[in-house]
Amino acid sequence: MSVQVYVAGKLVPKEQAMVSVFDHGLLYGDGVFEGIRTYGGKVFLEKEHIDRLYESALAIRLEIPMTPEEMTQAVRETVAANGLSDGYVRLVVTRGAGTLGLDPRRTSNPQVIIIADSISLYPQEMYDTGLQLITASTIRNHSAALSPRIKSLNYLNNILARIEGTDAGTVEALMLNHKGEVAECTGDNIFIVKDGVLKTPPPEAGILEGITRNAVMGLAKEAGIPVKEVPLVRHDIFVADECFLTGTAAEVISVVGLDGRKIGTGKPGPVTKDLLERFQKLTRS
Ligand code: PMP
Repeated sequence: MSVQVYVAGKLVPKEQAMVSVFDHGLLYGDGVFEGIRTYGGKVFLEKEHIDRLYESALAIRLEIPMTPEEMTQAVRETVAANGLSDGYVRLVVTRGAGTLGLDPRRTSNPQVIIIADSISLYPQEMYDTGLQLITASTIRNHSAALSPRIKSLNYLNNILARIEGTDAGTVEALMLNHKGEVAECTGDNIFIVKDGVLKTPPPEAGILEGITRNAVMGLAKEAGIPVKEVPLVRHDIFVADECFLTGTAAEVISVVGLDGRKIGTGKPGPVTKDLLERFQKLTRS
């Protein structure tokens, strides 16, 4: 059976799932989105994702034409209609079709699109051996220009950094902020472990406050691992014992090199492995 996509208030086969070419989501990247995992047919950290979607929309002054409860229901229905067990949901809200000008007041009908499909981001081998990163020369958006806390349809900042990674032969790239501090990767948050303490940049560093990030910090606290949200610079990564990334799609993945330099032993470390195991348990609970 063809993938069923939720668009314009109903489920249709993916070949028929369409929005207008005048939609400002397409013309200007004017919209917001979420990426959500399902495990065993259940929407993982559902409330957190729906809440963040509505916060992103509020930040760009986009009124979503459904309540959070209706949105939650529509996501569940889309997952069920596709018989999705372990999969991925892409939830998109656009500003809607309008005139050829920026003014959002000249748009109507924000579009809610829900796609439920399978996903595999990195090959299993990378989870076993850890991945390499490069530092992109493209810095993360300045918060005063476009806050990285908004999960908007404007992903060019990250895409340009990702291309730098691809050119250098890596699957992810580290992005610094305008102060030269570590922010995050193009689609993942970053953590280091140093002397038994788990460290990650704070939201003020100019990052998307990842839902996986928050879940992993919670798991670490439960495990008795001290957690610190502190500004980090590249030096901290070079001298870290361990490094890993978190993200909805990536889950928890070890980083063993940055800019051609080995991190720690050059192999996934014990804290990373422990947190990955705890995270996997959480997804199955
Ligand atoms: N940072 C960026 C820029 C991202 O796009 C993502 C993934 N959407 C993340 C971090 C990780 O966030 P989450 O754990 O909520 O998926």
